[in-house]
Amino acid sequence: MLNIYTNPVFYEHDTGAGHPESATRLDAALAGVARAGLADRISRETADHPDTDRIIAKVHSADYERALDQAARSGMRDFFSGDNPMSSQTFSAARTAVGAALTAAEEMTSGQENRAFVVARPPGHHAERLQPMGFCFFNTIACVAEWMREQPGIERVFVFDFDVHHGNGTQALFWDRDDVFYASMHRFPFYPGTGATNEIGGGAGRGYTLNIPFEQGLGDAAYLRGVEEVIVRAIDDYQPQAILLSSGFDAHRRDPLGGMRVTGGIRPDHEPDRRNGGPPQRRPRPLAARRRLRHGGACGQCC
Ligand SMILES: [Zn+2]
Repeated sequence: MLNIYTNPVFYEHDTGAGHPESATRLDAALAGVARAGLADRISRETADHPDTDRIIAKVHSADYERALDQAARSGMRDFFSGDNPMSSQTFSAARTAVGAALTAAEEMTSGQENRAFVVARPPGHHAERLQPMGFCFFNTIACVAEWMREQPGIERVFVFDFDVHHGNGTQALFWDRDDVFYASMHRFPFYPGTGATNEIGGGAGRGYTLNIPFEQGLGDAAYLRGVEEVIVRAIDDYQPQAILLSSGFDAHRRDPLGGMRVTGGIRPDHEPDRRNGGPPQRRPRPLAARRRLRHGGACGQCC
């Protein structure tokens, strides 16, 4: 069963009139959830998690967390630079995004559910240890990965980031580690400039970072091929106990900035095409991935 987690404070993070990272993203994601017939699975007041501040301090630092809190209280409109517009509720929203994702992860790992989807903002994957970037303040998916690694029996966590932008922050945070595998499909070259194929991790983490750059304008076929032929193989080889999806939807053809042509109808070939009712075609590797999801768990976080 899939549970969906969100919170009204995510609407209160105000980036200013006309900004592309706006609260309408939440409405769009939740409308998609409703279209999928999952509206009754949405938890709209997701409880905070007691580990929230400790994990934020571990991934970033306690000083960095305090600095964002103080900036919000003092009415600042940017954090570090104009790249990160903020409002009085930005700290609360960013902190709640981490707390809601940890709550979702806890319910997933405790066996109540084995899949979770967190609809939250501000996003997180550009945020580095001590620096916000690209509309991101706390690296939510990194916080979840770090928390997951503390749980008994979870020794390997796989993060798959399919946002159209490369997750430079997440990559940097786990660059030299082999216990968190970071894989990304993204437009390249493009903001933020990282994500080339030769970026594979360093030290003990060498080989545990995987980048799949796409040129501008590619669509469903390229994305499906990337998932089925590269990502699923990497998951099969790595054998993670948990899979985290860093779920940016800006590769969609209607995104104003992404420049890609992915549609909402993307689906693996082994599912029947409802338009012509043809028989399903089966391929072994996606099914292998599905088995893995059932044994471990998957947590998607909207970024
Ligand atoms: Zn993005």
